[in-house]
Amino acid sequence: MRGKRLCIVGGVAGGASCAARARRLDEKAEIIIFERGSFVSFANCGLPYYVGDVIRREEHLLVATPEMFRQRFNIEVRLHSEVVGIDRDGRRILVRDHQTGRHYEETYDALVLSPGSSPVRPPIEGLDLPGVFFVRTIPDSRAIRRMIEERNARTAVVVGGGYIGIEMTENLVRRGLHVTVVEMQRQLMPLCDPEMVWPLQEVLVEKGVEVRLGAQVERIEEAGAQEVTVRLRSGEGIRTPLVIVAVGVRPEVQLARDAGLALGQLGGIRVNDRMQTSDPSIWAVGDAVEVFHVITGRQTLLPLAGPANRQGRIAADVICGRDVRFRGVQGTAVVGLFDQVLAMTGPSEKTLKALGLWDEPYGCEKVYLHPGHHASYYPGAETIAMKLIFSRKDGKILGFQAVGKKGAVRRTDVIAMAVQKGGTVFDLEEAELCYAPQFGSAKDPVNLAGMIAANVLRGDVDVVHAEDMERPPEHVLVLDVREPFEFRRGHIPGALHIPLGFLRQRMEELPKDKEIWAYCYVGQRSYVAARALRQYGYRAKNLSGGYRSYEIWRKAVGKAP
Ligand code: FAD
Repeated sequence: MRGKRLCIVGGVAGGASCAARARRLDEKAEIIIFERGSFVSFANCGLPYYVGDVIRREEHLLVATPEMFRQRFNIEVRLHSEVVGIDRDGRRILVRDHQTGRHYEETYDALVLSPGSSPVRPPIEGLDLPGVFFVRTIPDSRAIRRMIEERNARTAVVVGGGYIGIEMTENLVRRGLHVTVVEMQRQLMPLCDPEMVWPLQEVLVEKGVEVRLGAQVERIEEAGAQEVTVRLRSGEGIRTPLVIVAVGVRPEVQLARDAGLALGQLGGIRVNDRMQTSDPSIWAVGDAVEVFHVITGRQTLLPLAGPANRQGRIAADVICGRDVRFRGVQGTAVVGLFDQVLAMTGPSEKTLKALGLWDEPYGCEKVYLHPGHHASYYPGAETIAMKLIFSRKDGKILGFQAVGKKGAVRRTDVIAMAVQKGGTVFDLEEAELCYAPQFGSAKDPVNLAGMIAANVLRGDVDVVHAEDMERPPEHVLVLDVREPFEFRRGHIPGALHIPLGFLRQRMEELPKDKEIWAYCYVGQRSYVAARALRQYGYRAKNLSGGYRSYEIWRKAVGKAP
């Protein structure tokens, strides 16, 4: 008896993982992948590193080939084959073979759409000029490499400071190009909080990259045979042989829309938690679908490889009769820039505020800390800047961002799992994690984040933040408890300076009718100070993350050079 026929549109992250899983579950099924491009299952995420020559050979980007699919999985891959129509009533798809120009039909029992997303084309002139590129496919990155070599490019402009823009910038710098990044928002990585992104910007500047924030490209003009001019709204023109446009992606939904499948409000294909579309015989996965965000409670688009792979697997499970559900997303992501790494899980403060969720329902609070990635007594400890966002109501962890040279990803992954399990800051306090001095600390940064947040929730200490320090109210006295040499290097204007070691002797200098906002360099000594002061009857609060967070925040929001 013939098994069911599973047709899959798109043969990369979601499509390929769906096909392979379906075969593992059902030896009899007939599985066909239709892929418009000339590669199946390639590593899109590796493309910037191929441009940068970190990945030296194009074939290293190929995770699997049609031959491998055939031999290992008995799956048929049809390359250069675009699915251009779906006849839902007849359960048929119309396929265009790009090599022959021929159209033909295939029937299906189950159809999976994993068409991905396409780069957003901003409404500016000149995007089709030679030297202007988007980065989506192996041929795109091949063409960029060729352009660099043929034109002997010395400069490039990257439009967009999101993660693809940042990765492309790193790789172009690696190839010796002088790069200008143009970003419309006032910060790089616009979904993150500005103070957490700041270290990446500092790295770019160190590497000689020009960063134009709050700058918009108006058009791209021809400038001789080998170059173009990127014209900004400010009037500035940047002449260069190479422009990379990376201003986001948009779900590819034309096929689904033409077939009358329901789309969501954000423009992605609407699916249920079994990845099933509005037609019960058609599933959709990956960048093309809208998914439920477990923290914001809203639908979202999350064009990342991890969700696409897991969704592909879930679609295959459901098609093969298993009762599994997709849990939704929380937005765990990472970007590297030379030796700095920024990792995150859950929404940022900016996002929670923009969605109107900061005060209600969550009653959000945040803490900052700057622990070493391993024990400070063991050589080579690097600082991680961390920000934990949680609910004041029940301690539920809502979001986390970490940036540093080492250890940021591990902490983010641990906290991501806690978020997925609905964990609280009290769980982080008690998390049992690996420790030997070269790997971590007996109180791991994850534990510390939980302890600091739990201290706030238990009422042991209250926190204020860098932005509160800009203009402290009349009833507040700002107290610096660092050592004199630290105070001399820089301090918050108007702060009273009493080093922690002298605080008990000089406590009578502090007014009891004022609130005391204490700070030190990272918030640890001032926490000790705040605890002592409270026990002597003062109303004391601690600047979360200390002077270090204050300095970074001021730079990140443009209040300091
Ligand atoms: P894709 O993997 O894009 O596959 C869709 C395929 O469908 C395409 O090959 C397309 O040709 C084909 N197709 C579309 N329509 C049709 C049709 N009608 N008929 C036949 N074929 C069709 N994510 C991360 O998590 N981490 C990273 O570091 C990361 N880096 C990235 C770097 C770059 C440069 C890019 C472009 C993406 C990166 N991503 C990263 C995102 C990740 O690659 C995507 O989220 C993931 O590939 C989405 O999987 P998908 O199956 O939905 O779509």
